[in-house]
Amino acid sequence: MADTADVIIIGAGLIGLSIAYHVASKGISHVVVIEKESLWGHGSSGRSAGGVRLEFSHPSAVKFSQYGLEMFRHFDDLFGISASFNPCGYLFLTRDPGQWKVMQDLSLMQQSLGVPVKCLAPQEVFYRFPYVKIPDLVGATFCPEDGVADPGAVLYGFAKRARDLGVTIRLGEQVTGIMAHHDQIMGVTTTKGVITGPVVVNAAGPYASTIGQMAGVEIPVRPYRRSIYITTPFMDLPPMMPMTLDLETTSYLRREGDSVLLGMSDPDEPSSYHTETDHQVLEKLIDTLLRWVPALNHAAILRGWAGLYEVSPDDSAIIGEVPGLSGFYCANGFSGHGFMHSPAAGRVIAELIAGEEPFVDIRPFLLARFTENQPTWETFVI
Ligand SMILES: Cc1cc2nc3c(=O)[nH]c(=O)nc-3n(C[C@H](O)[C@H](O)[C@H](O)COP(=O)(O)OP(=O)(O)OC[C@H]3O[C@@H](n4cnc5c(N)ncnc54)[C@H](O)[C@@H]3O)c2cc1C
Repeated sequence: MADTADVIIIGAGLIGLSIAYHVASKGISHVVVIEKESLWGHGSSGRSAGGVRLEFSHPSAVKFSQYGLEMFRHFDDLFGISASFNPCGYLFLTRDPGQWKVMQDLSLMQQSLGVPVKCLAPQEVFYRFPYVKIPDLVGATFCPEDGVADPGAVLYGFAKRARDLGVTIRLGEQVTGIMAHHDQIMGVTTTKGVITGPVVVNAAGPYASTIGQMAGVEIPVRPYRRSIYITTPFMDLPPMMPMTLDLETTSYLRREGDSVLLGMSDPDEPSSYHTETDHQVLEKLIDTLLRWVPALNHAAILRGWAGLYEVSPDDSAIIGEVPGLSGFYCANGFSGHGFMHSPAAGRVIAELIAGEEPFVDIRPFLLARFTENQPTWETFVI
């Protein structure tokens, strides 16, 4: 006999578990999360750098971040475990005058929403952050409220509270098909049987398009490997420094205790499901970073890891009910922002399922924007 559920969520990463928690918080019972692996660290959620920032190109994305930041600050009160939020700030550096103009314009929009972001001239950057050595720097934005939190603790918190609220998380079970009758979702088939229900949520991260295909829907999300490395304890950089990002090379660094965390989004990396670390990637990263943070010359690499970004065509998330298939929701394509946006994504999907108005205008994130040729381009992409 088939199991039944009011809400079936595919994927127990940060997005799926946030949705499960927010849906169950609304009093909706019989919520089931299906996860093909185990709970900890198999998907992108276990590979995140933990960055949380308020600078985005669209007001709705800024509001997503504001909700996430506030939740991470008070995570302990809500979930009984600290998200270890460290407000170290974010420093975005640009060498491109055109990009600098866009960043200055966007900072006005962000400030109007209460974001304390500041535009810095090169001399101020070199004075406050002397490890930055970019002779052709044009400008930078700095937001002191941004920071870093612990994705593992957040994942645990969502899972624990979701279970407390009655959510069933089924591990080691893969969704193999989506059932629909005419334009209404009817449930899913899995490696262990059939689950019927009127609502299915695609929270499959880098596998979002595969799940979409099962429902006959194109979800334009592609996986890209992204790598991170940690140095051995390293004292040639300030003990307190912001997440510092060079938009031209997409390379970045921040403190990780006494060590330094290094990363880069290599534009030459092809789309794939590969998650192994690669020596060539490390060499390219070091080579790139040494050109603008020469102090790293004496750093030694302790370890590294790679995971998948789930990238949409305009680097903005795809959120909402899929047109023409009632009961099929997606929360995909976070393009490197899925940790910080997981709280808000969970809340808006729960509101949509409950028939409520989302607390943030999600029109810029709807799937239909691609067929309507109205992309929501994101400038701040790393
Ligand atoms: C190196 C790296 C650094 C990052 N840094 C940041 C950062 O600083 N800040 C930030 O906000 N974001 C960051 N991100 C992005 C963030 O980690 C992701 O956007 C987020 O984790 C996506 O969560 P998810 O739940 O959608 O995906 P996932 O965590 O991948 O979860 C999806 C789950 O679905 C499961 N699944 C897939 N198919 C099926 C199926 N058929 N049946 C059952 N289960 C299935 C998978 O096993 C997986 O567990 C980073 C990502 C990487 C890789």
